[in-house]
Amino acid sequence: MEQLKLRIREEGKIRGTNEILKVDSFLNHQMDVAFLGEIGKAFRDRFADCQVDRILTIEASGIAIAYGASQAFGNLPLVFAKKNKTKNIAGDVYISQVESFTQSKRPYNIFVSKDFLHAGEKVLIIDDFLANGSALHALIEIVHQAGAEVVGAGIVIEKAFQSGGELLRKEGVRVESLARIQSMSEETGVVFCE
Ligand code: 5GP
Repeated sequence: MEQLKLRIREEGKIRGTNEILKVDSFLNHQMDVAFLGEIGKAFRDRFADCQVDRILTIEASGIAIAYGASQAFGNLPLVFAKKNKTKNIAGDVYISQVESFTQSKRPYNIFVSKDFLHAGEKVLIIDDFLANGSALHALIEIVHQAGAEVVGAGIVIEKAFQSGGELLRKEGVRVESLARIQSMSEETGVVFCE
């Protein structure tokens, strides 16, 4: 997605060489709603050949992206995995563990109520970033716990210098990334994307 690559190059802030990319001006803090609509349409086009019954994402940044995707698919049911087990999600939940890439690298659990993910559903997973693939693996695990099927994963930005994308594709998961970053340098501020 050319417009996305342009915005990553112009607005992205790099923290550490080949570590964290911040795109807070349009995706992770301030949100460009019109642009999120375009991202949603790009996912719809990438998965146009698939039947999709439901979209699954993870809070927080995934939610707005998945909302745009749901609209593009004609308002598909959308559920997000929660990171904290709150009172309103006690009891019947699917649980899986994520090794956090950004937050102090400590593992944390994610939860989805059994009410909102059903056996036999064809599920498209959406997330903002793919790095080592832990978040995606945890979401896939939750879909499998439900007896549902993963049709694929739509990722806005894949950091291709990390192992997640290659690993998941080797496992047979269809991963569609709208921008793939080959390398980025804090020193030069340069991001190479494809
Ligand atoms: P993974 O589980 O694939 O290692 O990391 C993916 C998750 O970590 C995403 O849900 C995303 O929130 C976060 N993440 C990983 N790398 C980055 C990054 O460079 N920038 C931002 N903003 N988030 C990232």
